[in-house]
Amino acid sequence: MNFTDSHCHLDFSNFDNERDKLLELCSLANINKMIIPAVSPKNWQLLLKLVEKNKTNCQLFSCLGIHPWYLNGLDNTHLELLDQTIAPQQNKLIAIGETGLDGVIAKEQNNLSKQQSFFEFHIHMANKYALPLIIHHRRTHPEILQQLKMTPVKKFGVIHAFSGSYQQGKAYIDLGYKLGIGGTITYPRAEKTIKAVKRFPIEALMLETDAPSMPLFGMQGESNSPLRLLNIFDKLAELRSEPKELLSEAIEKNVEELFGIT
Ligand SMILES: [Zn+2]
Repeated sequence: MNFTDSHCHLDFSNFDNERDKLLELCSLANINKMIIPAVSPKNWQLLLKLVEKNKTNCQLFSCLGIHPWYLNGLDNTHLELLDQTIAPQQNKLIAIGETGLDGVIAKEQNNLSKQQSFFEFHIHMANKYALPLIIHHRRTHPEILQQLKMTPVKKFGVIHAFSGSYQQGKAYIDLGYKLGIGGTITYPRAEKTIKAVKRFPIEALMLETDAPSMPLFGMQGESNSPLRLLNIFDKLAELRSEPKELLSEAIEKNVEELFGIT
């Protein structure tokens, strides 16, 4: 079986001392591909360099964008810069993101409309460069769905670290989106998400760790690792009716289809 961590922040300094070693361990564990979404203009060059220089057996893929947690101090000039940074890299990038809407931050910082205008710009970039979108959500399913219906992304994308009900997930799937399944399903209290993940069509599922964020159940307080992808897969296999081999194959096919990587 082969695996792709479809969402991992490997560029974060948490991994500075062990990055190559970790990637070799990933490849030994058959985690052969990793998709790294950017979070802030500060990380863009670092991320591009990291992916370009990678000589390990784990293939890395980059995406450029601005995460809704990192909007402070940014304005439209950074959106222009995003466009200018994507342009010469467009053949190397496999998606635009991370972008999206975070309801908790919107409340704390009273910045929902700024988040929305940044999100809309990312959709515009995805369409301009014909790339899929990597979307962050937190208490914002209605707002995100509304935006995606209003300004459709031609190449679709993934709702990363999906949590929510079957109906909420299905609404994205019906629009053509995939759902990133992460550590949430390892938490017994995430009943609604667990129930939903059992029922989603297999064609809609991808696996991700979001490392170093989102530690799995029982590992709270620790920093997360892409190696935990296999624990998430095991949990997913437990919830699903398909045999493991079939499940992993279908998920890899979904990754290939959405991001155009083999
Ligand atoms: Zn993320």
